[in-house]
Amino acid sequence: MTASAPERPTTRRVVRILVVGLLVVIAAIAAARGYQVLAPSSSTAAAPTDVLRSQHREVPPSTAPSIDVPRTEPRVRGEPRGALGEADGAIPDGTTVFAGRVPGVANLDPALLGALRRAATDAASDGVTFYVDSGWRSRTYQEQLLREAVSKYGSKKEAARWVATPATSAHVSGDAVDIGHTDATRWLSDHGRRYGLCQIYGNEPWHYELRREAVDQGCPSMYADPTRDPRMQP
Ligand SMILES: [Zn+2]
Repeated sequence: MTASAPERPTTRRVVRILVVGLLVVIAAIAAARGYQVLAPSSSTAAAPTDVLRSQHREVPPSTAPSIDVPRTEPRVRGEPRGALGEADGAIPDGTTVFAGRVPGVANLDPALLGALRRAATDAASDGVTFYVDSGWRSRTYQEQLLREAVSKYGSKKEAARWVATPATSAHVSGDAVDIGHTDATRWLSDHGRRYGLCQIYGNEPWHYELRREAVDQGCPSMYADPTRDPRMQP
């Protein structure tokens, strides 16, 4: 008799603890599920399609599309991703615009590369180094980016709005370069026009192309994002 009386509250307390514990577990599972559900859309918002790397995380998140390799994904860089290696335009870590033997740099349009190297030489006296995140890319590389975009956006037509095709990509033709790090893109933003180097897309502060007329006239107005670029229309 005496034993059963104190037992009740104890049992009740145990049950209460179990219930609370169960609720915590359920909440945790719900939170995890919620995160999984949210993750793709939030990563889409924070990470334009065609971006490559961590330095660019300082760039404010944008929902605008980007023609560069997804920067939240591991960079292609020196380590081949799938079948892709340096021969397809993967860029080893620490590659600068002066790297002569890296195809991703060496296959850039000579006029663009010359302008980049002149600018980089002058930037060096300000203590700034121009690293190359992505330069020339093979059609195979671009096709892989496009394939990834097709699986993401559901159709080739839609994907082509977000990721350049091998036919439309300025990287494939060697006419575009993605520059890092942030100090370099900031330097180019301030001084690039003197070398004919212009940012083309508002949402891609790292993507530069040569616009020779910029030396005299200044850079042309930027497109907000690649979907506004007539060259990108499929
Ligand atoms: Zn680019």
